[in-house]
Amino acid sequence: MRLRNVPGARDDIASSEHAIKEPEKLKGNWKSVFGNDNPIHVEIGTGKGAFIVKMAELNPDVNYIGIEKYSSVLIKAIAKLEENPLPNLVFIRFDAEEIENIFDKDEVDRIYLNFSDPWPKDRHAKRRLTSTRFLGHYIKFLKPEGYVAFKTDNVDLFDFSLESITEAGWGLKDVTRDLHNSQWNEGNVMTEYEAKFSAKGNPIMRLVCTPPQ
Ligand code: SAM
Repeated sequence: MRLRNVPGARDDIASSEHAIKEPEKLKGNWKSVFGNDNPIHVEIGTGKGAFIVKMAELNPDVNYIGIEKYSSVLIKAIAKLEENPLPNLVFIRFDAEEIENIFDKDEVDRIYLNFSDPWPKDRHAKRRLTSTRFLGHYIKFLKPEGYVAFKTDNVDLFDFSLESITEAGWGLKDVTRDLHNSQWNEGNVMTEYEAKFSAKGNPIMRLVCTPPQ
């Protein structure tokens, strides 16, 4: 994703009712944001928000939280909500490196990782959102019956993820290297990157992984 400094983005996010300020203070208490006991699904690296906005529209009985590191990108996601407010979706400008500080044990039912940054250099492997290090973070707040769903068009990242998930002792299911021509495509909501890369002819890979029991 090309990152540009968007003047005022940080201030606009800070003043938006759709963005959560000081998310650490909500650790263990996210239900209070939504005012109900519905399940909580989180997308990490939400980008411009196309996926999570659509998911929130389709599933009013699920609460969604979109996490994005960069204001310049997140401001586009927030603009979508300003146009079409949804009571079951909020955004956080936050670096997932610190994600353990914002969610408590068993607080999250599902995590979506869509077209996560590949960090191709070996020395940056720990930064990949499907690394054993990140899986170790997720296990601290994902419900035992919950799961992580991951989509990418990057073969190296997908192969790396299959290895790290197995190494971490997580379960794997619904693995496909061609999602759009698979049984799991029904109901698939495309992300911005998914639309872009599949239009170029790249097969989309997807897996679901479950925490060790
Ligand atoms: N999920 C979107 C999609 O599929 O269209 C965007 C994909 S884009 C390649 C990856 C996004 O993840 C970028 O917006 C990037 O800023 C964000 N990201 C990467 N590392 C992150 C982190 N540690 N915490 C939060 N967001 C992160």
